[in-house]
Amino acid sequence: MTLTTHIAIATAVTKPIMRAHPFFIFLFAFLSHYAADAIPHWDYHLCSVNEDTSEKRDHTLKNDPKLIGYDLLKVAFDITIGSTLSFILLRPELTFAGLLPVALTILGGILPDMLQPIFWLWKKNNPFTLLKKFHNFMHSNLILRKEYVGPKLVLAGKIFQVFILGCALFFASL
Ligand SMILES: [Zn+2]
Repeated sequence: MTLTTHIAIATAVTKPIMRAHPFFIFLFAFLSHYAADAIPHWDYHLCSVNEDTSEKRDHTLKNDPKLIGYDLLKVAFDITIGSTLSFILLRPELTFAGLLPVALTILGGILPDMLQPIFWLWKKNNPFTLLKKFHNFMHSNLILRKEYVGPKLVLAGKIFQVFILGCALFFASL
């Protein structure tokens, strides 16, 4: 799922509890990521990653600074769009207390994916393996991307993702 969609879903989830303790805002946003990943969805491919299409999803990072730089730009663009939408929907006060819940919503919503490079680079004795296993367990096995399925399902996945994003933005706007 794109990070924009993850941030929009996290925003819809945390908006009703914006005044709760920051820990709970982060926790709900973080958990919303795993719940969202359980829905079969389309996702964009990262050119710098060698994908292991088996259930283990034991990806590795290509040692190509150009590709890594391109992917970082892509991810940064994705986060910027999501964060802007979240900011518009939550309309926080421009104080530390006002901005903290928004920052925690965005961070919690994308953190499970932001941690992924750790697993691409650190294969042996990685202390976070349990987190990766949980991410894999929660993630839908139906990945609607050209590396895994045919073009019709990819298109369906893209349309469905726009629908999910629309729903999340609608609920976050209430
Ligand atoms: Zn994820």
